[in-house]
Amino acid sequence: MFFACAGVFSARAAEVRSTSVVTWQPAKLVRGSPVLFQVRTPAGVSQLSGKWLGHEIKFEPLANKRGFYALGGIPVETAAGSYDLELQGTRRNGEFKLVKKVRIAPAHYPRVAITVSKQFTEPNPEQLKQIAADKQVKKDVFSRTGPEQQWAGNFEPPVNAPTSGVFGTERVFNGEVKSRHLGLDYAAPAGTPVHAINAGTVLLAQKLYFEGGFIVIDHGQGLMSLYLHLSDFKVKEGDAVTTGEVIAQSGASGRATGAHLHLAVRWQGIYLDPAVVLHLAVPK
Ligand SMILES: [Zn+2]
Repeated sequence: MFFACAGVFSARAAEVRSTSVVTWQPAKLVRGSPVLFQVRTPAGVSQLSGKWLGHEIKFEPLANKRGFYALGGIPVETAAGSYDLELQGTRRNGEFKLVKKVRIAPAHYPRVAITVSKQFTEPNPEQLKQIAADKQVKKDVFSRTGPEQQWAGNFEPPVNAPTSGVFGTERVFNGEVKSRHLGLDYAAPAGTPVHAINAGTVLLAQKLYFEGGFIVIDHGQGLMSLYLHLSDFKVKEGDAVTTGEVIAQSGASGRATGAHLHLAVRWQGIYLDPAVVLHLAVPK
């Protein structure tokens, strides 16, 4: 009897495996890219979670109940290759597992030499103290994501301005690779209204040494958007914001060579290419 029951269970699991369809955006995934997984499931699947590159993913049900979706990401250091998306779900009287191979294609990011004023490459003791304090502020803020997804629908650009610097560029200071540009720059003149790219909660609205006027919005489930070099805040910490809501004015504060907006998107500690996030067609 016991073996018969086990047989029935695995037959059901096999049925789920053969009728589920896993797709993702963008079609060509590269390191640094967000990945929006969508899973079409047979009727009766009530819950779906996943494991991707060592991260836990909680899937949200689609409005039509025919499947689930979740946003994840690919660290910019990830080597090209094939990786497993491990899915685990609940259906009626049992659980099922599903593994999907996902290909990450090679990507090449540009390399540029940049020069910044000496106070940012060789800070004095007082500045070092502020930088250390800022580091603690950011560590604390980045650990405070909410458990529920707060964002919904497509992401919208933060400013009405052309982009001036892409994600991923390796920055060489004095002949040495010092950092990678982990955001997207917009050539926004000072005073340009800055909008929330999606709904969430303002976790931080403060002036920091490198970031200048800095806003962090938590979208839940480890997803956050960051807005740097702001000149004026229109929201305060704890405020709930909607997609497109004005949160600040752009500026040139902090480590900036001129007025611009630097937008960054983080998912569970991984910086993602905001340009790709803004182009995702999010299911409803
Ligand atoms: Zn930037």
